[in-house]
Amino acid sequence: MKVERVVLHFPKEVADKPVIVNLVRKYDLNFNILKAAITPDEEGIMVLEISGDDEKFSKGLEYLKENGIKIQPLSKDVVWLQEKCTHCGYCVSYCPTGALSKDKNTYVVSFDSQKCTTCGICVEICPFKAMEIRL
Ligand code: SF4
Ligand code: SF4
Repeated sequence: MKVERVVLHFPKEVADKPVIVNLVRKYDLNFNILKAAITPDEEGIMVLEISGDDEKFSKGLEYLKENGIKIQPLSKDVVWLQEKCTHCGYCVSYCPTGALSKDKNTYVVSFDSQKCTTCGICVEICPFKAMEIRL
């Protein structure tokens, strides 16, 4: 039995296909959607916890890749480049864990790396490239 959290990147063309539902139908996997978002260039991003039998797990992920979905494990470090951040707050509503937050009084954005699951959503959407993945 395997349980893994992954970030899926859906190109526009795949958005209306039932690929995630097929993980259950075809591969007997379970999934839990932790966060779903659409980036400004209409790519879909989904943070998913997938669980199931080891062999079916691999086949299920292979099926996703064959359908044009990029799979990124939650294992890289995400850093906040404070000098580039304009505190626009755009990332705050996308962040699934509250790692990025905005002070209600000062409107200053802050980043709590302890809460960050490294899903990478903020890296995709920050207009000022203030969030970065460090390999
Ligand atoms: S979207 Fe980028 S610039 Fe705006 S608050 Fe978030 S990290 Fe800062
Ligand atoms: S990478 Fe971290 S800070 Fe960025 S959206 Fe995901 S959880 Fe939030």
